[in-house]
Amino acid sequence: MLFKGAASLTGRLVTASRTVSRAGALPQQKRFLSLHEYRSAAILQEYGVPVPGGEAATTPEEAEKVAKELGKEDMVIKAQVLAGGRGKGTFDNGLKGGVKLISSPVEAKIYAEQMLGHKLITKQTGAAGKLCTAVYVVEREFVRREAYLAILLDRTTRGPVIVASSQGGMDIETVAKETPDAIFSTPIDIHTGVTDEIATKVAEALGFSAAATKEAAETVKKLYKVFQEKDATQVEINPLSETIDRRVLAMDAKLGFDDNASFRQPEVWGWRDTTQEDADEIEAAKYGLNFIKLDGNIGCLVNGAGLAMATMDIIKLNGGEPANFLDCGGGATAEAIRQAFGILLREPKVTAIFVNIFGGIVRCDNIAKGLIATTQEMNITVPIVARLQGTNVEEAQRLINNSGLKIFSFTDLDEAAQKVCQLSKVVSLAREIDVNVSFELPL
Ligand code: GDP
Ligand code: MN
Repeated sequence: MLFKGAASLTGRLVTASRTVSRAGALPQQKRFLSLHEYRSAAILQEYGVPVPGGEAATTPEEAEKVAKELGKEDMVIKAQVLAGGRGKGTFDNGLKGGVKLISSPVEAKIYAEQMLGHKLITKQTGAAGKLCTAVYVVEREFVRREAYLAILLDRTTRGPVIVASSQGGMDIETVAKETPDAIFSTPIDIHTGVTDEIATKVAEALGFSAAATKEAAETVKKLYKVFQEKDATQVEINPLSETIDRRVLAMDAKLGFDDNASFRQPEVWGWRDTTQEDADEIEAAKYGLNFIKLDGNIGCLVNGAGLAMATMDIIKLNGGEPANFLDCGGGATAEAIRQAFGILLREPKVTAIFVNIFGGIVRCDNIAKGLIATTQEMNITVPIVARLQGTNVEEAQRLINNSGLKIFSFTDLDEAAQKVCQLSKVVSLAREIDVNVSFELPL
């Protein structure tokens, strides 16, 4: 997310051997800023990592100009979208491939016209695709070998890990699944860093020719420096190539950065491209809501990340699927509830809303008031199940029950979860066969 895609790809790679024992997979807290390839390449270059010469463009004319200035016969034009698998992606206008080999400036212009302003759909973007806001025109390189190299943070060793494979260029998840032996990984002690010995071992795992191994080892060290100094959570080079003249080259780069370090990395954060992020998630962050979209249809509003996870688990246990993770934290105020409902209801797939709030710092009766006001104000057509527990819960129940609104109120989590799963199924079915259903309160 990594952006979700990249973070989960590499995350899964490292944690592939561990199983998730909870009822549902936990959503990753979103804490990675991702940069476009051309921005990442600029950072690599700053650290002396060899990258192909090139320049980004945001208009077809600019792309043509950049290609002219490169003055090469063989070039590549690459769609800049924050998702992997661009090469094998398809644009919403039918153009196949987000990475195209070209031999003239006019081709750069033609492809740029078809890429810019269009959405590229790859296996990491979902059906909606990602908007292409820039193209990167680079010199084409002739390669002998394509390897894979990544530096990530690993939970098991609680530190950086370097992952290398001679099987680069392609989908590394497939390599991990089908030929796990082709993947070499080594934890790095943050106090000693990447020693010559480790760098050489990693370089050997890349499978380059002997003549390129020394440069590969140096590149590994430089990449680790980038990882460390830029507060990265991920540095993924796929492919890291050996050219026919035995140079080492980072031909694609995906860098992710720790959100908590944003104050230390103003330049990196200045390169953020919010067109690549989910508009609703950005909107939610403005109101202090921690919101992540998921695939299901039960909209959840919860306070506290732990309770949010427990809520998702219990929904899954009852056969439902959460539509999102929404933690309004300590600020479960009436205003936060209103904003949260607005965000939840913007998603047409939501067939029921589950409010699960523990009144500790915030009082249940205040939450109930916010809930009632919001329900009255918005024209909510999906059933709402509220499970409030904690301070002033009796008063909260009384307010909800006397409101005359169709809010199903519970204090028990199991019962509430069962109810919301059942209601969401009924609404989904009703929508499928296109009938209206009305819900009777359990009283
Ligand atoms: P991705 O599909 O999003 O990972 O985009 P990449 O930048 O990795 O490009 C996809 C593939 O295109 C790479 O894995 C390479 O095989 C190929 N490719 C990109 N640029 C060049 C180049 O300059 N020369 C050669 N030979 N292949 C390239
Ligand atoms: Mn790639």
